[in-house]
Amino acid sequence: MSAIDDLVTELSRLPTIGRKSALRLTYHLLRQPVEQSRRLAQALVTLAEKVRPCSECFNLTEAERCAICTDPRRDRGLICVVEEASDIPSIERTGEYRGLYHVLGGRLAPLDGVGPADLTVAALVTRVTAGGPGGVREVIVATNPKLEGEATALYLQEQLKPTGVAVSRLARGLPIGGDLEYADGVTIVQAIAARRAM
Ligand SMILES: [Zn+2]
Repeated sequence: MSAIDDLVTELSRLPTIGRKSALRLTYHLLRQPVEQSRRLAQALVTLAEKVRPCSECFNLTEAERCAICTDPRRDRGLICVVEEASDIPSIERTGEYRGLYHVLGGRLAPLDGVGPADLTVAALVTRVTAGGPGGVREVIVATNPKLEGEATALYLQEQLKPTGVAVSRLARGLPIGGDLEYADGVTIVQAIAARRAM
């Protein structure tokens, strides 16, 4: 395999990048100064080696705990549960949510073999329980409004019931089948403001 084939194959594995785009990117890089490719390669290695899940909320971070968990101005009584760490920037961009997060690491998908043990549900229950009275007041479930996201929300509600914490679900402002990641700020703010108790 040639170096060109190698890179095209690797790039084609990325989401939304087909073989044609991969070829275009590869030839683009070949026309750039070698330093450009070196910086890209170094950024990829650093990303893979340094970024890891936050020990508290599973958001991605280069430290033991992420910037949100260590921010003393955040409301520690509120936890917003999202499927992926990539959902967090969408909510953060609105500047309206001041609580903490919990990244599930996906959603329940029995057909794809994703069960509760593959998600961070147990860690969430532990987090809520460890807070005790005066700790976590409310868990806002912000899983995507698709079938699997809804099933996951119901499962979380069941698991959190013994803790006595209030559990709410984002309002139906979000487009059905739409990903939180791509929702606009106004829609997210409305969905949080109009959240309903589960
Ligand atoms: Zn965190």
